[in-house]
Amino acid sequence: MKVLKFGGTSLANAYKFLSVAKIIKKNSKKYKIFVVLSAPSKITNYLISIIKKKIKNKFIDNDIYLIKNFFFNLILKLKYFLNKFNDINVYNLLQYKFIKLKKILYGVGLFKKCSKKIYAKIICLGEKFSVIIMSELLKSYNYNISIINPVKCLVATGNILESEININKSRFLIKKQINNNICKDKKNITLMAGFTAGNINGDTVVLGRNGSDYSAAILASCLKVNCCEIWTDVDGIYTCDPKKINNAILLKNISYKEAIELSYFGAKILHPRTILPLLKFNIPCLIKNTNNSNSNGTTINSNINKKKYYAKGITYLKNIVMFSIYGSNLFNIINILSNIINVILKENISVNLITQSRSENSISFCVPQKEINKTKNLLYNKFNLEFKNKIFNYVKIIKNLSIISLVGSNIKKNINILSLFFSSLSKSKIKIISISQESSRNIISIIVNNYNLTNAVKIIHQNIFFKEKKIELFIIGIGAIGKTLIKQICKQQFFLNNQNINLKIYGIANSKYFLTNKNGINLNNWKLLFNKKKNKFNIINLLKFIKNNNFCYPIIIDCTSSNLISNEYFNFISNNINIVTANKKANTSSLYYYYKIKYATINYNCKFLYETNVGAGLPIIENLKNLLCSGDKIINFSGILSGSLSFIFGKLDKGVSFSKSIKMACKMGFTEPDPREDLSGMDVARKLLILAREIGYTLELKDIKITPIIPNFFKKFNNLKKFMKNIHLLDNGFKKIYNKINKKNKVLRFVGIIKSNGKCLVKIKAINKFNPLYEIKNGENALVIYSKYYNPIPLVVRGYGAGNNVTAAGIFSDLFRIIS
Ligand code: ADP
Ligand code: ASP
Ligand code: MG
Repeated sequence: MKVLKFGGTSLANAYKFLSVAKIIKKNSKKYKIFVVLSAPSKITNYLISIIKKKIKNKFIDNDIYLIKNFFFNLILKLKYFLNKFNDINVYNLLQYKFIKLKKILYGVGLFKKCSKKIYAKIICLGEKFSVIIMSELLKSYNYNISIINPVKCLVATGNILESEININKSRFLIKKQINNNICKDKKNITLMAGFTAGNINGDTVVLGRNGSDYSAAILASCLKVNCCEIWTDVDGIYTCDPKKINNAILLKNISYKEAIELSYFGAKILHPRTILPLLKFNIPCLIKNTNNSNSNGTTINSNINKKKYYAKGITYLKNIVMFSIYGSNLFNIINILSNIINVILKENISVNLITQSRSENSISFCVPQKEINKTKNLLYNKFNLEFKNKIFNYVKIIKNLSIISLVGSNIKKNINILSLFFSSLSKSKIKIISISQESSRNIISIIVNNYNLTNAVKIIHQNIFFKEKKIELFIIGIGAIGKTLIKQICKQQFFLNNQNINLKIYGIANSKYFLTNKNGINLNNWKLLFNKKKNKFNIINLLKFIKNNNFCYPIIIDCTSSNLISNEYFNFISNNINIVTANKKANTSSLYYYYKIKYATINYNCKFLYETNVGAGLPIIENLKNLLCSGDKIINFSGILSGSLSFIFGKLDKGVSFSKSIKMACKMGFTEPDPREDLSGMDVARKLLILAREIGYTLELKDIKITPIIPNFFKKFNNLKKFMKNIHLLDNGFKKIYNKINKKNKVLRFVGIIKSNGKCLVKIKAINKFNPLYEIKNGENALVIYSKYYNPIPLVVRGYGAGNNVTAAGIFSDLFRIIS
């Protein structure tokens, strides 16, 4: 014997009804089958919203039409697929029920009230409809159908809307009905509406949202069947809700206890009361996918591996409120706590979590936010004396919280997992409001703010269930640097995998188009894919894609030089996206925007790294930061920060004329297409500003004093061609200066200087041979830092400060810094 339960997601349309019938038929060949059905998905929600509207005397005809339309369409489609289907019979039965519903709702509107009894009667209608339709569908396949009426057979107690079932009493009634009415031949299938039961007064009651799972478990326990199968829309139970976490792992097997904790602490896949009756009678429960019946699913039984303490899943409950009661001397804290909890439970409010602190003389508990007023009133009314006598001093209420729980057999004994659980949160600076002290060894729960929930769940899941570090990249800008970076990433995949780093690019964009793949773009032929796809790129699409696909730790890499992108950095960070940039625009924009981004990274706990802004791949920014962190003080700085100007001025040492050295630099691709951009000194000024700000000077770009290389009178040669034609006019002047300084054993260099008073200069300077910049030529960069620690010998960083490979490598090193 088997009980098969089909949830709303398995009955959402005609095709799904037919799939369910197919599964029932297949199973009935081997077993005697009992089927429990939910309402088609969303129907219960519609019914609830109709009641709410009717109480407020709002117009509901459209809503009723919506439900009717759904079912009548369903009937039509089933008739279309299955000629033998008795649509007229179903249609008449449903019409009759709708007339009755309208009458009841008329009463609700009249009194502007809906008693719990009427409420329960209305909201379980969807389940009744499912049984009527499935019954007729199976009859058209020549099955004999019996129907168990749950109002008569499932004996319920407690809250009418969240009832509990008495198994012993129900077993008696179910067996009686089976013996009396249900024909025993093999071609008989028995159906029962889920979610529904009856109390001793004969009233219809319901079992709480998702209650059909519980109905199935009760029926399975009453009949002591071999297996209770819950058919739904996912392959089984995963390490986390697979619709929220895209790399959640399917669990083959979990214990009854683990399933209880998972469902009690929020896993919607099972109603929290489902497992207990199955555990009592040791009936295995199988979770299966109606859309993929070949998958093995998850088995829930008593098997646990006692030696291994490992995590099974992460669950969460959103919209929770925490009450903390403070007293001057809550010495008998346990008794007081149990009194409070009993009072609340008696009112059918579920208490989600309890904590206590002897040192603070406080006790805290959580309830669903919708119960806030009821709980408040209960506390002040029932514990009036405690407040009067100052046993309770005051109550603190924190709203908009979520509980995140990690479940696994004996999980509390696994120090490694516990430390991973907490360290992942502290690393991501997610504030833990409270930690539960549940007595169960199988669960550890924390409370966080609602707005941290998604991120926290993703991070914990990634850290607990995946040893590998995940890097999720989105590259904007596919010029030379962007392309080189992609090439380097592609080449390094094997090395990265060996380091347990899972680095994937999920989006590649240029200013117009956007290539995405939620499973990671194939980097071997990304150019082809990019040219084929051509989805329009804009920031809204990018953010939507990142949000919709629940990325854990997304990083945007800006390989553009566009301020359209750098102006969006605040937007990115406030969406919890990290940034690595080669683009200098943000760091050289107004101080206001500069600090806005810096503070945003702290508030939103995101990283913003820009090592390649100065000296390409040379380790400058990070070193500077480390020095300052360690208490060092920068006294002054000088550096050659431009590869092209390093080349040009280096050539002068060898007697090459100024104009010739410019032409050589252009030819060898050291300069921008228009060398005047390099010669203006603006690029050096930008880099110097970034360094000065890093050191702590609050400067704007206009505060950097540039002494131009090209004299003012040259402005008349206002186009590139004229400029290049006349550049030789400067050769003599340069030669004169050069000869003069050469006598003193000096060379000319174009340098950026930060003085000890914070003044920043960009200019040509005569450098003597004791200065580390004396040697710097051929495109090399060098930075000379005199500090409290590095004195009288300065810290010198030198090497190539431009080029696609070194810049892309610099971006790569920022990526590693983010994950380490
Ligand atoms: P049904 O209509 O079949 O009762 P539900 O929507 O009530 O379906 O429950 C199935 C849903 O539970 C899944 O679609 C999934 O989004 C959600 N879910 C939450 N936690 C888990 C989990 N740990 N494993 C699998 N599914 C989960
Ligand atoms: N139809 C009910 C609900 O939506 C019960 C169920 O689906 O299990 O909550
Ligand atoms: Mg459900």
